[in-house]
Amino acid sequence: RIVYVNGEFLPEEEAKVSIFDRGFLMADGVYEVTSVLDGKLVDYDGHLTRLERSLAELDMPEPDGMDALLEIHRELVSRNNLKEGCVYLQITRGPADRDFLYPETPKPTLVLFTLAMTLRRSPKAEKGLRVISIDDLRWGRRDIKTVQLLYPSMGKMMAKHAGADDAWMVENGHVTEGTSNNAYIVTQDGTIVTRQLSHDILHGITRAAVLRFAREAQIKVEERPFTLDEAKAASEAFITSATTFVTGVVEIDGVQLGDGTPGPVSRRLREIYLEEAAKQAV
Ligand code: PMP
Repeated sequence: RIVYVNGEFLPEEEAKVSIFDRGFLMADGVYEVTSVLDGKLVDYDGHLTRLERSLAELDMPEPDGMDALLEIHRELVSRNNLKEGCVYLQITRGPADRDFLYPETPKPTLVLFTLAMTLRRSPKAEKGLRVISIDDLRWGRRDIKTVQLLYPSMGKMMAKHAGADDAWMVENGHVTEGTSNNAYIVTQDGTIVTRQLSHDILHGITRAAVLRFAREAQIKVEERPFTLDEAKAASEAFITSATTFVTGVVEIDGVQLGDGTPGPVSRRLREIYLEEAAKQAV
């Protein structure tokens, strides 16, 4: 695999980052994951806009190469002959002597690599996901897409040990989001409910697109917190993220939703998203 690091395209074995990099020492870094369908980037502009916002919120300077990011993405996709999967991008504040204070002249690190994945015909999407609920123990700025992913990793491990696919995180009785996705329920009268944007959740790029498509399809949308009990009594549930698009949730803490298969609203939104995403990919 060819990867990109600080201005160079290299075989992955040759790509190196300093042990003093603040991304490594302090999780002082941000990232984006952009899906690739038919060799094209899905929702690229949305990911770039969020990346710039993450950098600004952390006073992190833009690395060299920022003005050529789309070309770098495309070059990587093409060099790796990637048809379906994603491009992972990470920016850290770069190497500096270990200190809590930010370095005065930071040299940010820019890394990109590709991952081949089956996204469209994913078996998980066909069967639907089983999720468990866990406390949301993350920090208070989940809207910044930082590489501090230890708690979400722990959540996925808790789910795995419980025989489930993922975990939904709960704070003050309300669901915030999934470990790596936004969370939705569909009420018995067909309304989609998902938590409103704030510092409590990541502002999903897929979320924005899916809510737009739902409204265009005359499906009612409510952006508000919902409880776990409300979710267990819902007619269906689903998640969204760049690599899962829209994927049905069929079980929450062992409680089956509907007939135990992805519901009609989830399936319809997945179809609409896939069609539109492929059309708009660059
Ligand atoms: N919430 C969290 C916590 C995530 O990690 C992700 C995926 N990175 C999402 C939501 C979904 O965001 P997006 O649709 O932009 O992939």
